[in-house]
Amino acid sequence: MITIALDGPSGAGKSTVCDIVAERLGISHLNTGALYRAIGLYVMQNNIDPRSKDSVENALNRIDVDLNFDKGVQRVLLNGTDVTDELYSMAVSDVTSTISPYPMVRTYITGIQRKIAGKYSVIMEGRDITSEVLPNAKYKFYIDASSDVRALRRINDNKNKDNLSLDDFDRIKAEIEERDRRDKTRDISPLVIVPDAVYINTDKTTAEEVAEQILDIVRGGECEE
Ligand code: C5P
Repeated sequence: MITIALDGPSGAGKSTVCDIVAERLGISHLNTGALYRAIGLYVMQNNIDPRSKDSVENALNRIDVDLNFDKGVQRVLLNGTDVTDELYSMAVSDVTSTISPYPMVRTYITGIQRKIAGKYSVIMEGRDITSEVLPNAKYKFYIDASSDVRALRRINDNKNKDNLSLDDFDRIKAEIEERDRRDKTRDISPLVIVPDAVYINTDKTTAEEVAEQILDIVRGGECEE
């Protein structure tokens, strides 16, 4: 089994890099942000106040998040409905970073993540994969980029459903920095660079180059754990 754990802030290019690595190694790519986003979407759709920890944690009793892979592409099911295409609006991003620190939300999603890593060879990306979810993974990476580069990527992102343009740059950059601040300063499972992770900044590199760097390291090590 190969287990690759990868963390980093939104828009650093994690998903594209992981898609390439997963494809080349013939393993599954688990994007854990999508699982948190499914809960964020439920909170939004049901008019639950995301700032109310109790309301969000109570709602977990009514939420079933599941995953399947359609020709290797991850699909997220929320109470049996495929919601993958609804997860990437700015509104869902914002609600998700508000609800993701709640302990019961994290316990719920961490359980799903560990179950999958126990069964399949995976490259798993998120915020706390190297530090909390899979601290014993053989390969660990931290993928970073400046907030300017990430704001530009966000504007150009195909998944973007908000019709953004360069006029929105300052606002998007501020929102990204605010979400970083929440992810990095929360008490439970904050986004950190663990000492044994390989740090890669993607400001000036393509996803292909970053993927090659990761593949070199994984192929250079023993792939069996
Ligand atoms: O990676 P993505 O931007 O889709 O993640 C959305 C949000 O989910 C993040 O801002 C973060 O608050 C939360 N998240 C998390 N832990 C993870 C993955 C995502 O808290 N492992």
